[in-house]
Amino acid sequence: MAFTLSGDDVCQTTLPTPVPDPYWVAFSPSSAKLAGIPLDENEWPTDKAWLEVLSGNQLNAGGHHFSNPIATAYSGHQFGVWAGQLGDGRAILLGDIAGQELQLKGAGKTRFSRMGDGRAVLRSSIREFLCSEAMHALGIPTTRALSIIGSDLPVRRETMETAAVCARLAPSFIRVGHFEHFASLQNHARLKELADSLIQAHYPECLQAENPYLDLFKKICERNAKLVAQWQAVGFCHGVLNSDNISVLGLTIDYGPFGFLDHFQIDHICNHSDQGGRYAYHRQPQIMHWNMACLASAMIPLVELGCDEKEAQDQLRKALEEFPIIYAHTWQSLFRKKLGFTVEEDGDITLIERLLQAMHDSKVDFTSFFRRLGELKIDALINQISLRNDFVDRDAIEQWFSEYLARLKREGSNDLSRQISMNQVNPKYVLRNHLAQEAIELAQKKDFSEVAKLLNILSRPFDEQLEHEAYALAPPPNIDSIEVSCSS
Ligand code: AMP
Ligand code: MG
Repeated sequence: MAFTLSGDDVCQTTLPTPVPDPYWVAFSPSSAKLAGIPLDENEWPTDKAWLEVLSGNQLNAGGHHFSNPIATAYSGHQFGVWAGQLGDGRAILLGDIAGQELQLKGAGKTRFSRMGDGRAVLRSSIREFLCSEAMHALGIPTTRALSIIGSDLPVRRETMETAAVCARLAPSFIRVGHFEHFASLQNHARLKELADSLIQAHYPECLQAENPYLDLFKKICERNAKLVAQWQAVGFCHGVLNSDNISVLGLTIDYGPFGFLDHFQIDHICNHSDQGGRYAYHRQPQIMHWNMACLASAMIPLVELGCDEKEAQDQLRKALEEFPIIYAHTWQSLFRKKLGFTVEEDGDITLIERLLQAMHDSKVDFTSFFRRLGELKIDALINQISLRNDFVDRDAIEQWFSEYLARLKREGSNDLSRQISMNQVNPKYVLRNHLAQEAIELAQKKDFSEVAKLLNILSRPFDEQLEHEAYALAPPPNIDSIEVSCSS
């Protein structure tokens, strides 16, 4: 449900700025279905006016009239430092469609654009579009991407690029940064209005609790703890876990310099600008926890409505302490499934951690290793397991495999059913950086076929898709480390 706060200092009516000669770059039929947009036999919108609406050039299509597009104010902590007011600098919320909010990213300047041009480039829009849809197909909560519309409008970043508008869908785009915004202004009335509208639309069960705002906080924490565990389990690095990039619905939001791990490196940094590694892969859980602490501080005045100040702080602190517990529990459960275990044993976590350490030491490809692990037969001879060849320290990995096979035998694991269940949690296809890069380079030459092909492959990440085997491979060594900057 669209942001319902009153007052144009917060939700500014903002018309998108039209782009010259818009053209389709990409379209997600699956997102269109979510939005209830009728499609023709080729799975494009039957109403051609959608091209104009999704580029920000007009406000009517398919019987919808988006009469009050808005940009909202939010603030946040960037790289651990309070940054004040940040957005929406380039995202305009058109309105609701089939219970989703429809937002255009890169649709021109808003009152909150600061020094920015309000635009997004084709390159970053393709990355956001593909990754949103890939994450959804992986079963990971995320904002969705409906379309990319391109234009030859030049946009200056490190070099001259061209503009694109990415249409996104989510039940709500409210972020931790929205709460921080009102808390920092000590505008408790607005803070309450924000929390009340969030509860009403997305967390109605909180109304049953003794302190609904405390309960809201607990539920947001829980969703984000589970979310980050899911990221770790597929090797996803967000790259910019600033508090303004954290959804209060526990959705992955704002795809920038993200990356899926190719070879496993526990401290992998995907964001070129993150020199200190604050947002490295292994720090994501801790950073998400930190962001929940920011939310807790912002929510103190609300939780205080149901008790005194000291008690509010104690309650929030206690709720925050649950985060690592929920995270660890989810992580353990996901990694047990990745290894094909159906019951819990005490030694499991040590076994999983030893595997990850060995993968790190030998830089083993994360996605393909777990996928191939599902092919292992319980009676395999240790010295004939081909996965051994991925590791430098053969003795250590042989020891690990013998303990792993013994562990599987103890629970009476069956080869076929284990492989089937492992294939449902260990994807064969993820959006590797080099694949996105190839699609971007072709798209910059106006060939959008690779974007469509990747969308198609990544929408079935757990299927074998033998004809697309090449897309499952680790990148060739020479393009192993594409660095992705924040510029977008
Ligand atoms: P990010 O680091 O991408 O999450 O962006 C932080 C904030 O800067 C967001 O609120 C964006 O709306 C804003 N922003 C990023 N790029 C631009 C741009 N080109 N023009 C205006 N605002 C921008
Ligand atoms: Mg952002």
